Amino acid sequence: HDEEASAKSAATEANTGAPTIFDKIISKEIPSDIIYEDERVLAFRDINPQAPVHVLLIPKLRDGLTELGKAEARHEDILGHLMHVSKIVAEKEGIVDGFRVVINSGPTACQSVYHLHLHVLGGRQLKWPPG
Ligand code: 5GP
Repeated sequence: HDEEASAKSAATEANTGAPTIFDKIISKEIPSDIIYEDERVLAFRDINPQAPVHVLLIPKLRDGLTELGKAEARHEDILGHLMHVSKIVAEKEGIVDGFRVVINSGPTACQSVYHLHLHVLGGRQLKWPPG
């Protein structure tokens, strides 16, 4: 029985990945500058902003979404909600007329925190293409 439980917890660990710094931000163990919160998502300012407005938007429950590249059909609701809230964040920050939403997925895209997050960027003229 114990073996079965530990195999299950090992599989869950492998599937969801190790905890990240964002868990402590969600639990408020680590303080952050929160600009929007509801039952499902949290938005807070990036500690190393790349534009005058640089907000990170994350699901509170990671549920296997370490990166966008791991998305499955069950994640569609939360992915849609995150996209909609990115617009609410842009509105709150006064950049709704021109902003960018970025998701880095995987090492090749320079993802550094393995808990899905949307970057909401704006407040200056953004360049294209990004680096
Ligand atoms: P990624 O490179 O994974 O797409 O983005 C991770 C982002 O998280 C980076 O822009 C980084 O500055 C931000 N970040 C990392 N640690 C912290 C933290 O402790 N607090 C906040 N507010 N942002 C963080």
